[in-house]
Order: sequence, then C-alpha cells, then structure tokens
Amino acid sequence: MSKIKSINPYTGEVLKEFQSLSKDEIENCLSKAAKAYSTWKQVTFKDRAKLMKKAAEQLRKEQEKYAKIISQEMGKVIKEAKSEVEKCAWVCDYYAENAEEFLADEPINLPDGAKAKVSHEPIGTVLAVMPWNFPFWQVFRFAAPTLMAGNTGLLKHASNVPQCSLAIEEVFTKAGFPEGVFQSLIIGSKETNEIISDERIKAVTLTGSEKAGASVASEAAKNIKKAVLELGGSDPFIVLEDADLEEAAKIAVKARMINFGQSCIAAKRFIVVESVYDDFLKLFSKNLEDLKSGDPMDENSDFACMARTDLAMELFEQVEKSKKAGAKILMGGEKPEENSAVFKPTIITDIPKDSPAHKEELFGPVATIFSVKDEEEAIQLANDSEFGLGSSLWTKDMKKGEELAKKIESGAVFLNAMVASNPHLPFGGIKKSGFGRELSRYGILEFVNSKTVYLG
Ligand code: NDP
Repeated sequence: MSKIKSINPYTGEVLKEFQSLSKDEIENCLSKAAKAYSTWKQVTFKDRAKLMKKAAEQLRKEQEKYAKIISQEMGKVIKEAKSEVEKCAWVCDYYAENAEEFLADEPINLPDGAKAKVSHEPIGTVLAVMPWNFPFWQVFRFAAPTLMAGNTGLLKHASNVPQCSLAIEEVFTKAGFPEGVFQSLIIGSKETNEIISDERIKAVTLTGSEKAGASVASEAAKNIKKAVLELGGSDPFIVLEDADLEEAAKIAVKARMINFGQSCIAAKRFIVVESVYDDFLKLFSKNLEDLKSGDPMDENSDFACMARTDLAMELFEQVEKSKKAGAKILMGGEKPEENSAVFKPTIITDIPKDSPAHKEELFGPVATIFSVKDEEEAIQLANDSEFGLGSSLWTKDMKKGEELAKKIESGAVFLNAMVASNPHLPFGGIKKSGFGRELSRYGILEFVNSKTVYLG
C-alpha cells in the first residue's frame, strides 16, 4: 500500500502522511455507498434539502479552518481559499433550493391525445475523480447536485490534497448526512479503474488533465458507464478596438492570475487587435507588476506559489521551449529554484505557431499575448486550439459581441467579463476540454435516469 503525503508547497514541509486504503477498506466503502443509496433515494427532496442547507451552514461556520487546510495543502492564498469555501456553501444552498423543481416530472402531451411524462430518477453511486486546484469547489459542485438527486457519492481526490478530501467528508458528516451517502477514499490513481468497473458504481465524473480524463473515460466506456469530463482549457481573452481598455486590462490580469493561474477557465491567450495592442500590453504589465507576492497565509498576498514543485518545473519547461522557438519573454520566465513551487508571473509575446505557448495549456501564471489584424483574425486564432472551454470577448458593441460569440468554439463566452463558474450557469467544454455539463439544471440532469413514462 502506498503512502499519500500532504505537503505544504510553499515551505516544503510534510504536513501529514496517510496510508492509502486497502482492498478490504475500499470494498467496505463501496458496500456502504450502495447500502446508503437504497434508503437515500427514498428520502424526500425536502429532507435532503435540510441536510444540504446544514452542509452550507457547516462550511460557513468553519470557513477559516477549511480555508487554512486548502492554503496549507495547495498554496492558494488565504483570501482566495476563504472565497472558495463560501462558494461551496452557495452551491449547497442553490441545489437545496432548486433541485426539486429541476427534477420535477415533465408532462408531455402527444399529438394523438395520449399523455406521457418524463421523471428524473437517481441512478446509484457516482464516483468523482477530482483535482487539487479548487480542492473544495470542484468537489462541492459535483456533490451538491448529485446528492440532491438522490445518488450517493464517492470521492477519489488528488493525491496532494488528502486533508481537503477528509475535511469535505467531515462537512457532510457534521451536517448530518446518513452514513455512506458521501465518502472520501484516500487512494492513488492506480486503484481508480477497479472502482469504476465495480458494478456498484453507476457513473463517473472527472476534472483534471486530458491524460487522466482519457483513462477514466475509457474505463467507463469499457464498462458501459456514463462519464462527465471537465478537462483543460486554453481560454482566449479577445480585446477588440472599441473595448474599454482600462477595464479589460484590469480584468485580464485577474482572469489570468486567479488561483495563481491554475484554473481551467483562467484566461490564457490574450488576443488583442493591433491598433490597441501596445496600450493593452502596457496596462496589463503594470497591473501584473502591482500584485503582491507572499506567504499564502498572509491576507495581503495576491499570490504565493504553485501547488507542487513538479508543476512549476513543467511550466518553466513550456516557457523555455517557447523561448527557444523564438517567443519573447517580456516579464518573468526564470527557472524556479531547486525544490521550489514559487514561480514568477510571466508574460510572453511574439509567439511562434508550433511553440508550447501557442498550442498547449499553460497551467500557471504565464500570460501569452498575441497581436491580430482585426476581429476576424482574432476569432480564427481563438479557435486555433485543441481546447474549447471558456472565452472572454471585449467590445462596447453588444450586438457585434453576440454575433461573434456564435463563432467562438467554446462551452461559454463571457462578454466584457471574465469567465467564472456560477451555480446558475451551465459549465463545461467542447473539443479536448471534455464533455457533459456541471452546475445549473444541466448539471443535475447528468446523473439521473430521465425516464419516459407513457400514460396509456
Ligand atoms: P491529473 O489530471 O493527473 O489529476 C487530476 C485527478 O485525476 C487526480 O485525482 C488524479 O489522481 C487523477 N488521475 C490522474 N491520472 C489518473 C488515471 N490514470 N486514472 C484515474 N485517475 C487519475 O492532474 P495533475 O495533478 O497531474 O496536473 C497536471 C495537469 O492537469 C495540469 O497542469 C493541468 O493542465 C491539468 N489539470 C486540469 C485541471 C482542471 O481544472 N481542468 C485541474 C488539475 C489539473 P492522483 O493525484 O492520485 O494522480
């Protein structure tokens, strides 16, 4: 059995070590989840909602404690960790208040006068394979709709955030959810395939890299099980000539630097029309320079470090290769110190087509800035990506914005705003960013049996 370590990426200190679950322990969790499902699916929406509201209360009550665990384990600055915990409470409230309506029977009147309805029923235990970047939020946006629909949930969290994984289980336990409705499995990724193939698991959802997504979705397909994949992104942030440049440059930095750049929907490619390129670049650089680095636990820090040293090295290599291919490094770009997850915010321009900065996801504080002739070229470049998660477009002409939004290949377009997840809005991608949707009514419909009942 392997060990799972919780390491503070800012200090390098090993905070805790966990033994990964044995086969017998995993079996026990699977059987508890299946047993809990047989009664949980019969609990009324009202009663499920009461518990989900309690989960929100629990998150708010111990917000400081949970935020500290997040910051210590993956290096996010404490103010962002606190907001993350609050956002989890929001999604719990949202589904507590809306799940019943979202899953209400839908009557259908057929042209021949016959009647039918669609009823949305739970499917069983759903496995969630989750990442470290928003270690609470990614889990709650799965758990709140899934549990409210009457399913039970098992969490296989990323190996660098075991304390977050256990803290999330604690939230549901303290809220009073029956035993087995939500369980956290402290395991590595090797054990995941066997769990997916277990007949008690009915579906799987994964947020993470393409590689992990392909592996998990293949195993699900082999076993004829549904999968939802929320993978990477290389979101364009398009600035047209008539944009509010000051506002665009302010939000651009926020959109790139949120979570120190380690977000699937962070703006990654800034595509700027040439007539405003120089001004945008100046404003963007200045705003980036103004951010304050420091200890993740310091309330005044805007950023601290990446979540693991290997991720920092990987990002550096992408920057180096792009530089060798001819890209210009305007800011940052230095090699992280040995065994350090600290990375300097970086700006790259003049990016050659085949370089990593052009075609790969840069999952960290590195902004790539492109100059284009006009809006047509901007859309072309925006779509020249394997990914299609979010996108942001800046123009004062809303009519034009809406027209251009139709041409962008992505799961979301935000006009004059940064892409952000919100319980009310469907979230997900196309192309290599994955398939399926989370959040809103679309999210809760992913893991239900939408059953046709013909009323003859
Ligand atoms: P991974 O995709 O490897 O990890 C995400 C989750 O998937 C973790 O729980 C991980 O478990 C699990 N996992 C990994 N491989 C498998 C597998 N073969 N079968 C089952 N589960 C698996 O991400 P990394 O942490 O390695 O980050 C690498 C890159 O992934 C980032 O640089 C970024 O590009 C992308 N990423 C995207 C995220 C997003 O929000 N879309 C979030 C995180 C990463 P374990 O930790 O035990 O390996």
